[in-house]
Amino acid sequence: MSFDYDLFVIGAGSGGVRAARVSAAHGARVAIAEEHKVGGTCVIRGCVPKKLLVYGAHFAEDLADARRFGWDVPQCAFHWPTLRDNVLAEVERLEGAYTDTLGNHKVEIVKERATLAGPHEVRLAGGRTVTAKTILLATGATPVVPDFPGAEHGITSNEAFHLPELPRRVVIAGAGYIANEFAGIFHNLGSHVTLVNRSDVILRGYDETIRDRLLTISMMKGIEFRFHVSFAGIEKRDDGSLRVAMDGCDPIEADAVMFAIGRRPATDGLGLEKAGVELDDKGAVKVDADNRSTCPSVYAVGDVTNRVQLTPVAIREGQAFADSVFGNRPTRVDYGCIPSAVFSHPPLAGVGLTEGQARNQLGAVKTYTSDFRAMKNVLAGRNERALYKLVVNAETDEVVGLHMIGPDAPEILQAAAIAVKAKLKKADFDAVVALHPTMAEELVLMR
Ligand code: FAD
Ligand code: NDP
Repeated sequence: MSFDYDLFVIGAGSGGVRAARVSAAHGARVAIAEEHKVGGTCVIRGCVPKKLLVYGAHFAEDLADARRFGWDVPQCAFHWPTLRDNVLAEVERLEGAYTDTLGNHKVEIVKERATLAGPHEVRLAGGRTVTAKTILLATGATPVVPDFPGAEHGITSNEAFHLPELPRRVVIAGAGYIANEFAGIFHNLGSHVTLVNRSDVILRGYDETIRDRLLTISMMKGIEFRFHVSFAGIEKRDDGSLRVAMDGCDPIEADAVMFAIGRRPATDGLGLEKAGVELDDKGAVKVDADNRSTCPSVYAVGDVTNRVQLTPVAIREGQAFADSVFGNRPTRVDYGCIPSAVFSHPPLAGVGLTEGQARNQLGAVKTYTSDFRAMKNVLAGRNERALYKLVVNAETDEVVGLHMIGPDAPEILQAAAIAVKAKLKKADFDAVVALHPTMAEELVLMR
């Protein structure tokens, strides 16, 4: 049987672009459909514009600190449209770069929504149906929007990058990655932030002491938290302001409400039933270790499979798919010891087992902590302490986890994660001479 393409990819995000490009490099005839913008969530409305806003927001602290370092900083004003438009222009540049890369690899880009019409058939929104020997679902995930009266007045991270003006008062629903990152961004840019969560746990999954430290610092900075609270309704007034009614606390007056309560795999209306592609109870495409769905000709990678919702993971899955299916090089992703970070102010990062996980899984555990004020913060008079924690298997001396909060924690942790992944021992850390004066030297000085 002959097909229009060897591979048809649905979704040009982190996983889809990598899979399409590498499959084409292996000699496959590839097309990729994208209903929004080439680059996907990470490039267009996730990691990249978010990190640029984090940089922009951090200047508030740098400018204030600069005075203690002798700089005569005049009264500074922040202009949201400048940051917003510069970030969006950079996103547009990157979209062009991703489009060019696909073109250079002879991947055909179809700028339309695509759905499955059968095990080898894809229906395009314009009405065309095309065939492919293999189909890859890489449609990512979309923000969950709760259902209560007035919820339509809220925004998600998708809209946050396009706000016409900076809201004076923001209520953020959730206490995970996006909530804490945007709480820091909005707060530093000058908004009053209230974070509202259904439980009293922020950043579930991260080490408890590190999370507690972020909560303490955030509260010290003036970010407000409401725990064990749920939304009852949002009422929009004539002047555009919002009255947010809550179950569990008094109503809050706000100018914007942002939902950051998780992201759901984008599988609605994808026609999966036409190919016998099954979903799990969270609506994610069920795949095996080789990214193959319950339909042998249909594979899936990235957030749509709801394994680990991070860009480097989606990219690895896309690469493994391409190498296995078109490169004659069977490859599986190793999900052990994936480092991750939250770009809050200050940022935090972790790799391996938390102390709690280690105590549950291992016999005996030793922890080593360094609780310090970065030299720069001391001179700046900034009362913010960093905290590093090493979790060690007491029987083998292996470092099984590293958790950090403080300036540049994600940059430092990426390098240190190599040692954790390589199963180095605490004695190996101790054997390294400190590089002074740095914050990272604490990693080899914990006793
Ligand atoms: P996506 O990148 O979401 O790509 C899916 C693409 O498919 C989209 O472009 C979509 O428009 C398209 N699509 C969907 N359905 C169809 C269809 N039927 N037809 C055609 N096209 C379709 N991860 C990190 O590692 N670090 C971070 O700092 C980070 N920050 C983030 C910040 C925010 C605000 C958000 C929302 C996410 C962040 N993430 C971060 C997560 C990261 O963006 C995702 O894990 C990653 O983008 C997943 O890649 P993917 O290829 O699975 O899907
Ligand atoms: P998260 O899973 O990080 O956090 C969701 C938050 O919302 C939690 O506090 C959770 O509470 C709460 N919540 C979940 N469901 C509900 C509900 N139905 N009603 C009310 N509250 C609810 O999701 P995000 O939206 O912040 O981010 C989505 C994903 O995107 C992340 O998991 C991450 O994988 C990725 N991402 C990565 C980033 C990075 O790498 N730096 C940055 C941004 C996003 P509870 O804990 O009590 O369940």
